[in-house]
Amino acid sequence: MASPWPLLLKNLFLPVFCRECGRRLLTEENGHFCPTCWELCPRIVRPFCSVCGRPHQERAGFGETRNFPCEKCRSLPAPPYRRIYAAAHFGGAIAEAIKLVKFHDKHRLATSLAVEMAEFAQREIDCAAYHALVPVPLHKVRLRERGFNQARLLAEALLPVFSNARLDESLQRIRPTRVQSRLKDAKERASNVAGAFAVNRDVAYDGQTLLLIDDVVTTGGTVAECAIALRRAGAIHVDVLAVAIPVETDPLA
Ligand SMILES: [Zn+2]
Ligand SMILES: [Zn+2]
Repeated sequence: MASPWPLLLKNLFLPVFCRECGRRLLTEENGHFCPTCWELCPRIVRPFCSVCGRPHQERAGFGETRNFPCEKCRSLPAPPYRRIYAAAHFGGAIAEAIKLVKFHDKHRLATSLAVEMAEFAQREIDCAAYHALVPVPLHKVRLRERGFNQARLLAEALLPVFSNARLDESLQRIRPTRVQSRLKDAKERASNVAGAFAVNRDVAYDGQTLLLIDDVVTTGGTVAECAIALRRAGAIHVDVLAVAIPVETDPLA
């Protein structure tokens, strides 16, 4: 456990406040959010969609534990990935934390987000089945600007949970793309990432099951393109694990 002194001293001279509710932080926690705001973010629990990972909220509270595809996923052709897992709804302190990691270099928060993913994975995923964790890559220009890839930070922190997996960075973003969340519709997002990923030519994933790691999955366009490239290089199954996913029934979605 981290020593309480640095925060106590900081609080004396330079108080730290929760970015959600403004309350003064009195514990080390993650340094940005109070435990109440952090816990208030809805986590994804069973039953959830066995394809897109979104919760079946209409079935919550009835003791149903079996996951099954949602209506939307049933009506669409099977995506190139097998399934998406997400630990939480995209909203509140978790959404804020994702932005702070990505755009404000708050690396320590990546550890808190990885803890959420690890808890979800230990509860819901057959962790030993994966040969590699593959972070969704940034284009090299974006990587140079930002200095780090948030998906890689998450994958690295998750490695101990996946006993048979290595960290694999052979997947590359071969052309720059625009930020998906800033594009207006699914069509524009799909064309933004189409053919944007490739695997180094000397890499073969023959017979392997891979887990793609990302912070947020929105329409699934980016992870679908990544899965196409990974399967072209021989992977049998590509699943996705994200910190959060927007859930349509959320007031913020
Ligand atoms: Zn708070
Ligand atoms: Zn679904």
